[in-house]
Formats: sequence, structure tokens, C-alpha cells
Amino acid sequence: MTPTAHAPALRVGGLTPLTTIDYPGELATVIFCQCCPWRCRYCHNWNLHDASAQSSIPWSTIRRFLIQRKGLLDAVVFSGGEPTAQHDLTAALSEVRDLGFKIGLHTGGAYPERLRQLLPLLDWVGLDIKALAADYEPITGVADSGKLAWESLSLLLEAGIPLEVRTTVMPNWSSADVGVIAQMLADVGVRNYALQRCDSRHALDASLPEATVPLQQLSSEIAAERFARLTLRDR
Ligand code: SF4
Repeated sequence: MTPTAHAPALRVGGLTPLTTIDYPGELATVIFCQCCPWRCRYCHNWNLHDASAQSSIPWSTIRRFLIQRKGLLDAVVFSGGEPTAQHDLTAALSEVRDLGFKIGLHTGGAYPERLRQLLPLLDWVGLDIKALAADYEPITGVADSGKLAWESLSLLLEAGIPLEVRTTVMPNWSSADVGVIAQMLADVGVRNYALQRCDSRHALDASLPEATVPLQQLSSEIAAERFARLTLRDR
């Protein structure tokens, strides 16, 4: 392993030791990074929002764990929260790469400039595109968040990094709403797209209504042939 200049001070809120569903086709560990600048109504990981929270797992413990898993795991996925919110993510990714693991990133794209710097370290990305850019604020609570997310999408497409774009369907959306977003994503070159059911149980916004319409029905206006893969995650 190449020694890093300093041990990453990445603040980690939790870790899933083994998953088969968070990095396509690979056995992976997921590291949940602390901090997120957005407050999505449907967020389930609101325990990770606090930017000042200390790490619940020291990086030295994670490093030891990963060294023991060499040859058993393929990839490490950095999720959150919003992993790119922390400057120490770069050092952490470099160290994990040096250990021989592929790097996956789950992001909402809140920091496109930081994402640009991380591109050479990434093997696969799952990017949340929550809505059309103009419609983000009612979901995230943050003005101009959509512009940042769509800018991140452009960066990832330009870089050609294997990518899945995901949209969580708000309970009040129609199939036409879903179709418009999917069409826009296909137009800009997204090939792998996933729709996720909004699960209002344990959501940050307790007033969020339960989703009642099946994703199969909500996806009826998507031109599925425009995607290489269209995935419906109906809970
Ligand atoms: S981007 Fe939204 S859903 Fe993701 S962790 Fe932040 S608040 Fe939660």
C-alpha cells in the first residue's frame, strides 16, 4: 500500500460490512459518511445530517477491517449523508484504492467541483437526480440545489464513469411527471436509470404522505427503450 500523507479524518456514521446490492455485480462494503447540506423530505438517513458530529468509527478501525477483507470484497462504496461534503473523502478514497478495492460513490451531486476532483478515483457512481433542476427546492429545502445536481450529472457523463441515475418518486407525482424527468435524463445521455418508491416511514418529514401508486404504473410514460437498463425499486 502506498503510504498516505495523513490518516483520513473522514467522519463516518456507520458501516455495512457486506452488501450485494450497493455496487452492481460486486461484493462491497458501504461506508456511511456523516454530513449533508440538504434536507430532503423523504430522507431516511437524517441521523447523518449533523456536520459537527464526530465519527462513530475511527478511520484506523475501517482500515484494519478492509485489510482483513482483501481478496474477499471487490469494492467499497462511500454513501451518506453526502460523502462529497467532507474534504477528507479524497484521502480516504486514495487509501482504499491503494488497498486494491474498486471505489463506488453514492451522491446527490451537491458539490460538483469536489466531484470533478474525485473523478479519477471513481469506478462507479450512483447519482440521485431528484427532479428537474427547477423543482428541487420543495424536496431538498435548499435553493439552487437542482443546478448543482444536474451539473454533477454532466461531469459524470462527460467523464464516462459507469453510472446509475436514481430518482425517488414523490408521492404526489403522476406518471407524466415521471415521464418528463426520464425523458430529460435520456436526452442528456443517461443509460442506466432507476426509479425508487418513496418510503415515508421514518422520513425526515413526518407529514409526507404514503406513496400509493405502484412504480410500474408511474413508469408507464417512460420510453424504456431509451435506456440500456431501467430498474424499478418498489420497496
Ligand atoms: S441528499 Fe437528501 S436523501 Fe440524501 S442524505 Fe442528504 S438529505 Fe438525505
